[in-house]
Amino acid sequence: MISRRNSKPVHIGGVTVGGDAPIVVQSMTKTDTRDVRATVRQIKELEECGCELVRLAVPDDEAAQALARIKQGVSLPIIADIHFDHRLALQSLEAGVDGLRLNPGNIADPEKIKQVAMAAKERHVPIRIGVNAGSMPKTADPNLGLADNMVNAALKEIGLLESVDFDLIKVSLKAFDVPATIEAYRSLAEKIPYPLHIGITEAGPPRTGIIRSAVGIGALLWLGIGDTIRVSLTAHPGEEVIAGYEILKSLNLRQHGPVLVSCPTCGRTEVDVVRLVGEVEEQLVKIDKPLKVAVMGCVVNGPGEARDADVGIACGKGKGVLFKKGEKVGVVDEKDLLSVLMREVEKL
Ligand code: SF4
Repeated sequence: MISRRNSKPVHIGGVTVGGDAPIVVQSMTKTDTRDVRATVRQIKELEECGCELVRLAVPDDEAAQALARIKQGVSLPIIADIHFDHRLALQSLEAGVDGLRLNPGNIADPEKIKQVAMAAKERHVPIRIGVNAGSMPKTADPNLGLADNMVNAALKEIGLLESVDFDLIKVSLKAFDVPATIEAYRSLAEKIPYPLHIGITEAGPPRTGIIRSAVGIGALLWLGIGDTIRVSLTAHPGEEVIAGYEILKSLNLRQHGPVLVSCPTCGRTEVDVVRLVGEVEEQLVKIDKPLKVAVMGCVVNGPGEARDADVGIACGKGKGVLFKKGEKVGVVDEKDLLSVLMREVEKL
């Protein structure tokens, strides 16, 4: 049983992060923010995947100016990702963004950070202090490890925001190194009341990046740490959202669409279960109900798992036994397994 750390909630647009709110799944657009049409399109794609918050890179004035038009075209809360130039944060606030992300590693002047915090306070816009191992402040202590330096960078920035009475804060401490990331979050979680955005940065392409992210994010969630997550992948951002929900579903922290149970297959399998499961997985993407679907290769574990699912199939020689809500409801030829299974799923 996971006992979540208490945190002081913040509201980003209509989405609450922290407190008792469900753990929020977020992602980041990969379009050129200056291209309003493409960015709006991608935000809508993300929304269809279940993304709840979206961050946009704001590298220059033109991107900051595009934010107001992007905001008009979408309903998801948008967060401006700011590096180097605090003026872009001020412009983004004027454009009506719902949140800001500042990197303590590349806006060093405390007065500029305070200026942004005061402008955000006027508009009740939260700021994420996003520490990243790849862009640590120059003041990082070479005698300390990465985790301690990330925590110190966050605490220093938190102190700056609090000095102007700003407390709409969330924090992230991301590194590629999973143990360092976990160590940093564990340490910071005990020191501050603010919600934490968790993730493993630059985790890589989907095949390896999802595993690295699941290990890091999963370990933190198991410790009760984490109020919002992003899986960073070198892929379409929709993949990040799907992976994020799968991590949360694995720990029973969120329900989102179906769960697919399938066996690995072995020498007992007498139906092409690998192909069948691939097709079922593709079709389940369109279903948004939290159903449990099972596709099993034989009678060893098949009937047990299939019976336990909302809809399940336990395959045999050239056919499969269909189960619905724990009851055996028929025997289906191999060629009809996909269509019959999906028909039953859709009926539910
Ligand atoms: Fe093998 Fe049957 Fe187990 Fe699938 S359910 S892995 S086919 S023993």
